[in-house]
Amino acid sequence: MVRTLLLAPPGAGKGTQGERLAAHYGVPHLAAGDQLRGHVADGTPLGAQAHGYMDRGELVPDDLVVRLILDLLGGDASRDGFVLDGFPRTLPQAEQAHSWGLANDRALDAVVSLLVPEDELVRRLLERGRESGRSDDNDETIRKRLKVYNDQTAPLLDYYRQRGILHEVEGTGPVEDVTSRIIDEIDAALQQR
Ligand code: ADP
Repeated sequence: MVRTLLLAPPGAGKGTQGERLAAHYGVPHLAAGDQLRGHVADGTPLGAQAHGYMDRGELVPDDLVVRLILDLLGGDASRDGFVLDGFPRTLPQAEQAHSWGLANDRALDAVVSLLVPEDELVRRLLERGRESGRSDDNDETIRKRLKVYNDQTAPLLDYYRQRGILHEVEGTGPVEDVTSRIIDEIDAALQQR
C-alpha cells in the first residue's frame, strides 16, 4: 500500500512514471491535468471555468482543483493507496490536502521529486506538442508553465522536505531506469514507516 505524490515541473515525466508506478503497486493513478482535460473535453461547468487558465499555461484556481481532486481521492478506489500527479501544486492546495489527508486516512507516505534540467524539459514538451497536439505544449505556454512551476509549485519541495517525506530522484535516462529509482526510494520510505 502506498500513497505517493509525484512533484515535478512540466515535462519531467509525471504522467509516464505515474502510470508505471500505479501498475507496479496496483493502485490508481490520479493526474490532476488529465482530470481537468477530461472536464474540458466533456464540456462540464468545471471544464468551462478551467480551460482558459489551462490554455494560457496558468494554474486553475485553487478552490476548483481542491474540490475536484479531494472528492476523487476520497472515493473507495483510493482507499488502499494512490499515485497522485499534478496536485497539490500551490502551498494553499498542499495545506488543504494535508489536513484533509490526516482527517481522511489519506496522508502521503512519500513525495517524489523528479530532477530534470530545464533545457531537457523544453525539448520534451516541444516534442510532445508536435506528436500529441496537446494545445498547451507550444513554445510560449511552455515557458509560462515553467515559470509558474518555479514560482508557485517549487516552494512545495521545502514544505515536504520539512515534513521528512521528500525524495529526490534523477529523472533523466531510460524510462524504466527512472521507474526503478523511484520504486527503490518509495520502498525504502515505506520500510521506515
Ligand atoms: P504539465 O505538468 O505538463 O503542466 P498537467 O497535465 O499536469 O501538465 O497540467 C496541465 C494544466 O492543468 C496546468 O498548466 C494547469 O492549468 C492545470 N492544472 C493541473 N493541475 C493543477 C493544479 N493542481 N492546480 C491548478 N491547475 C492545475
